[in-house]
Amino acid sequence: MNEDQLFARIAPLFDVGQFGEAKVLIAGCGSGGGQVALQLAMAGVRNFDLFDTDTLEAENVIRHVCGRRYVGQQKVDALADVLLDRNPAIQINKFNADLMECSDLGYRISQSTVVVLATDNEPTRYRINQLCVETETPFVIGRVFTRGIGGEVFGYRPNEGGCLACLESVLERTQFRDGIREIDLVSDDEREKIYGLEIAEIKDSPGLNVDIAFITCFHTRFVLDAIARSLPERPTHLPPIDNNYLVWGNRPVQPFQKNFEIQRISLQPQEGCLICHQGGTE
Ligand SMILES: [Zn+2]
Repeated sequence: MNEDQLFARIAPLFDVGQFGEAKVLIAGCGSGGGQVALQLAMAGVRNFDLFDTDTLEAENVIRHVCGRRYVGQQKVDALADVLLDRNPAIQINKFNADLMECSDLGYRISQSTVVVLATDNEPTRYRINQLCVETETPFVIGRVFTRGIGGEVFGYRPNEGGCLACLESVLERTQFRDGIREIDLVSDDEREKIYGLEIAEIKDSPGLNVDIAFITCFHTRFVLDAIARSLPERPTHLPPIDNNYLVWGNRPVQPFQKNFEIQRISLQPQEGCLICHQGGTE
């Protein structure tokens, strides 16, 4: 089986060879990053840098692209195996490295077409945001809200839109995310206070895979959009995504009113942003 056969069905839609040249850095190979990477591989992306230090645990299996046979393996190894199963022509560099300490990260980012930001903690997000701004590399971040009630996707477009720090400063001043916080950012005490749930109960209910999948599909489309923006000629079946930020509600739980609710904005660089320095200095 050669690569032409693998992509015969989508070849009329996309020039698979164009996506094949793109380099995608996956920062975080958990349920989010793993699903985005697999979707990209199935869209013809062939060059990946995978970053993660975790091992796949049994409780990950119901939400991860890697199933039971990979339990106990490093996530970068398990995910690489799943991607290569789809397309053996894929080139993968695996980094079982801490994103906060990896001195090579800025260079790897500068060599990437786009970064998939799928980590679960603020320090790594802000380090990658800063490195992407410095190297003018696009990134796309996807986050799933507590209990899988919805999530958000934001794409950083260098010299065009705001950065992650700009986004946070805007969100602080709006009601866009009222009542929504990510489970990972909340202390155990806060979890009980905010959600009125036992800690064990909420830890066991970060959402079904299907809830996460809505977000990873938007995430993937934003990444494909970033790759398309880097190409000399845009694939005709991939019209540009105008807005760089969207919030998706899976079900009618505060702050969402109904199933499948979407809101979107175009985030501009914010005056005085300490990271992207837009507006205030020009
Ligand atoms: Zn900024």
